[in-house]
Amino acid sequence: MTFKDLSLNAKILKAVSEQNYTTPTPIQKETIPLVLEGIDVIGCAQTGTGKTAAFALPILNKIFEQQNDQKKAKKIKALIVSPTRELAIQIEENFKIYSTYTNIRTTSVYGGTSMEPQIDVLKKGVDILIATPGRLLDLHKRDILNLDYIEILVLDEADMMLDMGFIDDVKKIERLCPTQKQSLLFSATMPLKIESLANEILTEPQKVSVSVISSAAKTIHQEVYMVPKPKKIELCLHLLRNELRGNMIIFRRTKFGVDKLETTLLKNNYKVATIHGDKTQVARTKALNKFKNNDVNILIATDVAARGIDIPNLDIVVNFDLPNVSESYVHRIGRTGRAGKEGRAISFCAADEKSYLKDIQQLIGKLISVEENHPYPLDPKAKPEVHKKKGSKYKKGRKSEASKKKKKRWY
Ligand code: AMP
Repeated sequence: MTFKDLSLNAKILKAVSEQNYTTPTPIQKETIPLVLEGIDVIGCAQTGTGKTAAFALPILNKIFEQQNDQKKAKKIKALIVSPTRELAIQIEENFKIYSTYTNIRTTSVYGGTSMEPQIDVLKKGVDILIATPGRLLDLHKRDILNLDYIEILVLDEADMMLDMGFIDDVKKIERLCPTQKQSLLFSATMPLKIESLANEILTEPQKVSVSVISSAAKTIHQEVYMVPKPKKIELCLHLLRNELRGNMIIFRRTKFGVDKLETTLLKNNYKVATIHGDKTQVARTKALNKFKNNDVNILIATDVAARGIDIPNLDIVVNFDLPNVSESYVHRIGRTGRAGKEGRAISFCAADEKSYLKDIQQLIGKLISVEENHPYPLDPKAKPEVHKKKGSKYKKGRKSEASKKKKKRWY
């Protein structure tokens, strides 16, 4: 099957062929005809499967075919809700590439940057809007956005929106759109809450699912290093000095961990960039570009900041900390070994992470081989380290109001 067989307009096909896409990916083959027919879709697919084009191409096709009066002010006809700013920017880039030979206008709005330039673009009129939930609701409250003409609503990376606590916002956004519309929901995993969200929002949806998990696993060499927690940094430096070559993402569970590892690696003259939820949008985009342009070969990131970002040509994924949610492991390692290339995923497991390892192995349905040949082995009998609380017992559990207000997200 080629893209031509999918009944897409010649102008869109021209842009697609310039991207050197020869055949549609499985998710595209299944989703594009359904979207063109106006059917609601639940797509179970993660980044790397070509899912953005799976919804972008038919949406552009539909909008292109019904464009008749060019002079009228443009109304937003398609809304794509995305959990993170990076993903929103990436989706916008995709829409813009595929619509090069049309006069369809796309823009994105997201938090962390000034609202004014976004308002200016919106006022000029756009056909397609990609938005993160918070900024979208904010702009709507200020009467900048009119969602009355939405014909297609896409919820991308729905499970991540759930993880980030956006579900109520997403429901609110759906209610702000007209009842009569086509809705598409994409999610890498389908927890119960996403299934019920889909039941609530979609009408007689068709389910489309592609798993890259099994195909990715075939080309990814996975290993685990059992190591005491305080020795992880030394093990990381040892591996960087002796065997890890190429582009890699090092995942840490917390943003504090990301910053700490960054300091150590910089001191050791490695070229690194970092992304986590506390960085400004400008800093995150800059870091990502440095990595994409090969100015640095190491990106240190938390899950939430990194999920959904398309980074081709990743040689290695390092799980400096094992994720406590097993699905995150699959998301993380799926970033290497793409398109049949050899990839490598290595994980550090300390005594207190053994249960996470067990859950991960259960999820992927196989045992990850343990690499024993390294200088910092973990004593198999080692118990998880318990950090005793310091300070006065009278202060226990009494946080000042100021400190409660300062409470920050950990990702
Ligand atoms: P996505 O899953 O949407 O993030 O896409 C992952 C990557 O696959 C992006 O870099 C796309 O440009 C690329 N891609 C999408 N569709 C195709 C296709 N049919 N053939 C080759 N590459 C594609």
